[in-house]
Amino acid sequence: MSTSPAYDVAIIGCGPVGALAACLLGKAGLSVVVLEQELTHYPLPRAVHLDHEMMRLFQTAGVIDRVLPDMIDTDGHLHVGADHQAIRYMGTVGLARPFGWSNDWFFYQPELETHLRAGFAAFAHVSLKLGAEFAAIDQDEHGVRVGFDQDGTAHTVTARWAIACDGSRSPVRKALGITLDDLDFEEPWLVVDAHVDGPVAFPAIAGVPPEADLQRLSVMMCDPRRPATVVPGRGNHRRWELMLLPGEDDAAMMAPDRVAELLKPYVGEVPHTIVRSATYRFHGLVAHRWQQGRVFLAGDAAHQTPPFFGQGMCHGLRDVANLAWKMAAIVQDGANAAILDTYQGERDPHVRAVIGAAVATGRYICELDPAKAAARDAEMVARAAAQAGTPQTAADLVPPISHGVVLTGSAGAGERFIQPVLADGRKLDDATGQGWRLFAAATVPPAAGITTVDATLLDDAGAVVQWLAARNAPAVLVRPDHYVFGTGTPAALIAAHTAALGLMAETVA
Ligand SMILES: Cc1cc2nc3c(=O)[nH]c(=O)nc-3n(C[C@H](O)[C@H](O)[C@H](O)COP(=O)(O)OP(=O)(O)OC[C@H]3O[C@@H](n4cnc5c(N)ncnc54)[C@H](O)[C@@H]3O)c2cc1C
Repeated sequence: MSTSPAYDVAIIGCGPVGALAACLLGKAGLSVVVLEQELTHYPLPRAVHLDHEMMRLFQTAGVIDRVLPDMIDTDGHLHVGADHQAIRYMGTVGLARPFGWSNDWFFYQPELETHLRAGFAAFAHVSLKLGAEFAAIDQDEHGVRVGFDQDGTAHTVTARWAIACDGSRSPVRKALGITLDDLDFEEPWLVVDAHVDGPVAFPAIAGVPPEADLQRLSVMMCDPRRPATVVPGRGNHRRWELMLLPGEDDAAMMAPDRVAELLKPYVGEVPHTIVRSATYRFHGLVAHRWQQGRVFLAGDAAHQTPPFFGQGMCHGLRDVANLAWKMAAIVQDGANAAILDTYQGERDPHVRAVIGAAVATGRYICELDPAKAAARDAEMVARAAAQAGTPQTAADLVPPISHGVVLTGSAGAGERFIQPVLADGRKLDDATGQGWRLFAAATVPPAAGITTVDATLLDDAGAVVQWLAARNAPAVLVRPDHYVFGTGTPAALIAAHTAALGLMAETVA
């Protein structure tokens, strides 16, 4: 292969994960080719929920103004037991929003994908090839060569790296011979999307906190007769996910009459239109390897989760945010290419922790034995009573990064950094700019590759200064993906940044 690959990055697959990767890499100035086998994006919704961290990534990618008008923020999750008693509440009403966005957002996936594609279309150095079906991949010390078929003709492209965002069946993963770790969860569910012109009906539910509005919650009916999730959507879109019971036939369950019968208790006479119904097997799967040399797996190609916390796509968006800043640091700033070897080590524990929580939740949601369901409900009500006063939200499921490009052992390392809203209405990232940022409770001289911010001068009601004080830290260094690199003195953090990225000290002095 030539020592000068044609592109910095080849992205295989342009679902939401591939599209966000193209936005982030394009914004960083890298040259990118995106290969997508289909001529148009998938027209039906799969993911419906994402969290505050994705909104922040859309900010980073410069697409927030496109996506925001088509999104709605909601109030979290409620799990309801067999006898219609609230058994777990993860609501966000009245809670602080430390990351600058509400915790839970709902959207219509085809609209989101349209906006993401429009986001990278703005970059002349990002090229999207539609109808381009991946065929083969090989690599050497200079880069990767990706073969694809388009219009009946075989083509190749070369790039420094490839990111396989080609979905759960991932032909790239298969070509590399990478197997999946099965987290032992497989349940069949019917997914129904509808446009509903009015509120959804629920049975009387005991123990719902007074501030909770059922129309604004993702409600999980853990009824052993038919576990079901009722999800609010943007506009008049609503999602139902209904578990298939043993012996039920997929095709029969998708039949319009059967779907109408299943939705009847919720929609009654409210005018509505079924957009689609489809059955899925909800899995918990994680690839054993996420990287083979210069090729990286991201999104569903690397992992699949039961959707009980609406995190499958979110995992994938975090994956490419992690890769994008590292690739940009190598190409633009001369960072050591070895920083990419931290990718799986940083992301895999995150993904496994959240999939583990989703699988554990799925196991109690999918309980079909009435006696066991009653015991579950009693245990969960008791647990909720013991935890009263300590709010639980889905955001708490994501653990900090424990090792990789972080200053392990320093207070707050690996956490997601806060994003206060300033007095003038701007969010912190918009005010400071993106990239590496060092916040100190004092003025710090500029450092190469790092924006330094005197936190005492931020009009953020003291949020960043308080964050530092809570960790007894004079300064914090924040990565471009908004995770905390570490805390310490400014000089120590700047030196640790140089070392962690493998930068030559003289190039950053
Ligand atoms: C019922 C359901 C509900 C869900 N709810 C949520 C939710 O609320 N929140 C959430 O975060 N996630 C949710 N998910 C998960 C989410 O939909 C997926 O994680 C997400 O769509 C994966 O995105 P991706 O880009 O990795 O893969 P995909 O969206 O599958 O995109 C892969 C792309 O690769 C292309 N491709 C495949 N093979 C080739 C090839 N050979 N050559 C070129 N291109 C190729 C495909 O055409 C496609 O465009 C849900 C999933 C389901 C099924």
